[in-house]
Amino acid sequence: MQTSIPAQLLSHPDIAEADAILRSCVHCGFCNATCPTYQLLGSELDGPRGRIYLIKEMLETGQASDKTRLHLDRCLTCRACETTCPSGVRYGRLIDIGREMAEVRAPRSLSARLLRKAMLAVLPYTARISVALALARVFRPLLPLHLQKKIPARQTASITPATLHSRRMLVLQGCIQPLSTPNTNAAAARVLDRLGISLISAPGAGCCGALNQHLADPEGARAMMRRNIDAWWPHVENGAEAIVMTASGCGLMVKDYVAALKDDTKYADKAARISELTRDLSEILNRENLNTFAHIGRGMRVAYQSSCTLQHGQKLGGTVEAILQRCGYELSPVADSHLCCGAAGTYTLLQAELSRQLLKNKLAALHEGKPEVIASANVGCQMHLASASDLPVKHWIELLEQN
Ligand code: SF4
Ligand code: SF4
Repeated sequence: MQTSIPAQLLSHPDIAEADAILRSCVHCGFCNATCPTYQLLGSELDGPRGRIYLIKEMLETGQASDKTRLHLDRCLTCRACETTCPSGVRYGRLIDIGREMAEVRAPRSLSARLLRKAMLAVLPYTARISVALALARVFRPLLPLHLQKKIPARQTASITPATLHSRRMLVLQGCIQPLSTPNTNAAAARVLDRLGISLISAPGAGCCGALNQHLADPEGARAMMRRNIDAWWPHVENGAEAIVMTASGCGLMVKDYVAALKDDTKYADKAARISELTRDLSEILNRENLNTFAHIGRGMRVAYQSSCTLQHGQKLGGTVEAILQRCGYELSPVADSHLCCGAAGTYTLLQAELSRQLLKNKLAALHEGKPEVIASANVGCQMHLASASDLPVKHWIELLEQN
């Protein structure tokens, strides 16, 4: 694709990067075929190629409108288009740059800005979400039904083992997961303990930064990255073997710290090391001997929801599925498994109607193969699916404890 971005703009490294990405697109449109919003809305501007053109136009003219922002906002950042693209266009990075610019060139209304500020002030902080969640539970009967369903059921985590093994790995607790699905990390600790690995967490670490990143607040995201690096670094120096991610959305973000902090003279090297050590939980288990768990599934039928951040972002499609099969589970078929479930961070709140349609389609596909349980690799997807599913929705690691 030819571009003509003004030279003074190209001196900014992000714009130069966006220009290189734009030039790698050959506007073939193959990506539209696997884009969830293009499938739902059928309009060119709600597919990746149309959004790429909108970003190109914005960079060339320096102007954006409400229309530009609307179509960029509707993107789930699921990156299915990246998986499909034959030219390797790095769409995920391009939309981040485009969104940041659109925030400045086409400012939102005061109410929309306040809503986003409120989200950024609460959602990445466990203590604050805890208060919001407690209030939501108290006032649940007064809320509209669709919001009532979004309040996660209480889950308790059973006991975690003492950290006695010489093999030690860090685990990220994250922001929402300790409140909504605390058993995920507890189950991961117990399963890894049986494999001779102790999971440790660094109390100073928190949200990975993805929420800020996707709400066009890269500076806020970088502050969280630096805080996590500071919390993890003593453990890294003490020989932690890996930094384990039990939520694929967080894993994708932490693996990207290297790129996000590459120009930070103080943190660039540490960020590179942190990203290098970061592994999705499935990558860890995939390399271990799982004979102890070989029959744990007893042929139970599982519908596995392949999260976008694992399959398109981290390119780890098939890893969890292989582990579940090694552990004796039968995978029920799931049509269109490349499509997003509609959770996508804050999408469920900011694009509620599209999110609901995607959820409905995803649940129909998951239920089609008559499974007994649904499994996911990401807390956001798990909560989103559980809000409307009749079947239990678990993190896949919990299935390795099933009797
Ligand atoms: S598939 Fe790739 S090259 Fe083709 S239009 Fe989409 S992003 Fe551009
Ligand atoms: S990231 Fe997902 S929603 Fe956005 S353009 Fe690509 S395929 Fe479509």
